[in-house]
Formats: sequence, structure tokens, C-alpha cells
Amino acid sequence: MVVETERDNATWYECETCGLLFTDESEAVDHETQCDGDDPSYIQ
Ligand SMILES: [Zn+2]
Repeated sequence: MVVETERDNATWYECETCGLLFTDESEAVDHETQCDGDDPSYIQ
């Protein structure tokens, strides 16, 4: 899932699966839906 995080007075959106950071929430969500990550058995 996507986690909202604050850094340098800006809001970032982090893909919890792989740790990638996005400045745009929709981009993060879009990425997250396609991100398989390293562990498909991750707790839901
Ligand atoms: Zn990802």
C-alpha cells in the first residue's frame, strides 16, 4: 500500500512494497497496483 510521508516540508508517497517515493499520490497508487515487490506473501 501507499504510505504518506513528510520530508523537506513536502509530502511524499511511498510504495510500502518496494520503498519507492513519489511526489504525486496518483502516481504512487498507480505504481503500487503494478508493483509485485519481493515478497508476494506479505501480510495483508
Ligand atoms: Zn513498488
